[in-house]
Amino acid sequence: MKSREEVFAILNTKMKKSKFRMSIIILGLAIVGLSIILLNLDSKDKVISKAQFQQLAAFPVPQPTIQYGFVLDTFQVSRDTIQNNEFLADILLRHKVPFADIDELARATKDSFDVRGLRADRPYTILATDTSQAAQYFIYEPSVFSYVIFDLQNKTATKIERPVSTTVKTGAGIIQSSLWNAMTDNGMSFELAASMEDALAWSIDFHHIQKEDRFKLVYEERSIDGQPVGIGKILGAYYKNVDNEYYAIRFENEKHAGYYDLEARPMEKAFLKAPVKYSRISSRYNLRRFHPVLRRTRPHFGTDYAAPTGTPIYAVADGLVTKRSRTRGNGNYVKIKHDDVYQTQYLHMSRFAPGVNVGTHVKQGQTIGFVGQTGLANGPHVCFRFWKNGKQVNHLKENLPPPDPMPAADIPRFNIVKAEIKEELDQITFKNFSSKKVTQPIEGADDAPKEQLGSL
Ligand SMILES: [Zn+2]
Repeated sequence: MKSREEVFAILNTKMKKSKFRMSIIILGLAIVGLSIILLNLDSKDKVISKAQFQQLAAFPVPQPTIQYGFVLDTFQVSRDTIQNNEFLADILLRHKVPFADIDELARATKDSFDVRGLRADRPYTILATDTSQAAQYFIYEPSVFSYVIFDLQNKTATKIERPVSTTVKTGAGIIQSSLWNAMTDNGMSFELAASMEDALAWSIDFHHIQKEDRFKLVYEERSIDGQPVGIGKILGAYYKNVDNEYYAIRFENEKHAGYYDLEARPMEKAFLKAPVKYSRISSRYNLRRFHPVLRRTRPHFGTDYAAPTGTPIYAVADGLVTKRSRTRGNGNYVKIKHDDVYQTQYLHMSRFAPGVNVGTHVKQGQTIGFVGQTGLANGPHVCFRFWKNGKQVNHLKENLPPPDPMPAADIPRFNIVKAEIKEELDQITFKNFSSKKVTQPIEGADDAPKEQLGSL
């Protein structure tokens, strides 16, 4: 290391050089100086004592508050939310921006952000160097995912997307009353329950969940600045009911993203279990059913799913629309031909989905109409009818055709993903959950028939 004299000598010879070099040298000198201090701390003749040094280090350095890329400490900051029927001009006039400037700003920024698009209840921030003068920046947050900086002097608008980070989280629950309750009681969201239903919909009949069914999840949580903003993908799910346990492992290739069981068999089936989500079965396929409207025994060739009017009705499989019509009994209905064997029919719709006509090709999960109570119906529901070789059958009892298998070339990569996700799922325990709701053991609970919980 150079001595102090040498450093000064070097410094002197370089004095005439450019400012740039000068600053580099000062920085270098600072490093050399600091090194000397640090070295001396451990040597016998200390320049300053350790205690003194720590005191120096502990000297409070004010941390600047940085938000939206501004050091807020250098501004007068006002925050509020957009009020009903409030326009940008109303806000900026209060902050001493002349109307002519506001008008110019609105025109100049029209293409990057139309100021008429401000929405009530969204937050905004005003930055002014001096509140007696016109404000300098107006920052608007159209969503948690982005903000728009209006530079009030230069009349520009810049939209900044906030970086979204994804963390992998785990969750588990034991069903006591409903899946929703099991989720929310354990700190998980409705959104997560819906995603879990998507992952497992082909294997678990969510209309037949029972008390003490249990689930575990490995999922992505999306967050901005440490605040959760939503659910990403479900990477793995485990579900155990009285009969079976199920694993669903998410796997993607170039063509397809989906869920597979531990043997790499697709969880997805050629047919969805139900044509509506979050519904309850209000009437089953029954050849001796007492009809609630006709008030006499009449076979029921379908399965009724009760759901609020307007709930989307999905095609349960890919197919071709062969009927889109209305009759006195069926109300508005759609019939789809899936192949030479299977057809499905959806009754009592309040309305059809736009673009669904006779001859339309529909995909599995595509909305074909909306729940209603047209025709012979005593409440909003969809009567779902399943035709096999021209006869109506109970789809819940059908052994439906399997989907296409995973390509053999993907299996080695799947096995790696599977091992990792399964291990994570298996590590999740129920110990924090199992005792939460049960206040006293129920005698003979194991022998008693499990309570059926119809709806979510
Ligand atoms: Zn029905």
